[in-house]
Amino acid sequence: MSDELDPEVVADLQLRAYSEHDRTRTRGEGAYDWKPPAAVTEWKCRTPPCKVFVGVDADTVEQWEMFNRELVRRAEKPIASHEVVRCASCELEMAKVQPLRLRKRVDRMADVIRQLKDGKEQIRYRDNEGDQIGNRELAFAKLKEWGHPDVEGFRQALTEKSSPNKKPRKDFV
Ligand SMILES: [Zn+2]
Repeated sequence: MSDELDPEVVADLQLRAYSEHDRTRTRGEGAYDWKPPAAVTEWKCRTPPCKVFVGVDADTVEQWEMFNRELVRRAEKPIASHEVVRCASCELEMAKVQPLRLRKRVDRMADVIRQLKDGKEQIRYRDNEGDQIGNRELAFAKLKEWGHPDVEGFRQALTEKSSPNKKPRKDFV
């Protein structure tokens, strides 16, 4: 989902792409065949319903090409040109909703963590597709996906807590 591209991940990948010096080495490898277009000067805004075209300079095009080469090298799907830039008004809109998104993500995690702590076998959670239900394993995977900093540590803490001599501890929560 293009809208879900994490800007931090993209920045990270761009950095990695920069460090890839031999640019011709891996052409044609990987699961996707991707070739940069001969000339691109305007890209569609990456907000799906937005129809605005944004002027793109040569550096951005080059960055995008390197970025995609890196993705292709890892057999990951390259990013289309309409998934890269935002027009000024969408950029502004994004800056407004971003804190709310992060807040929602934290709430989502807190809810799953609470259920895991309660020892529930079926965990209810909400993701981009709506309300979901899954087992504990999936819940841990979801936490990881949402950027929980220490899923394994958390899992371990829960395992220790539920070991034979179960003593309810008030200080745990
Ligand atoms: Zn736009």
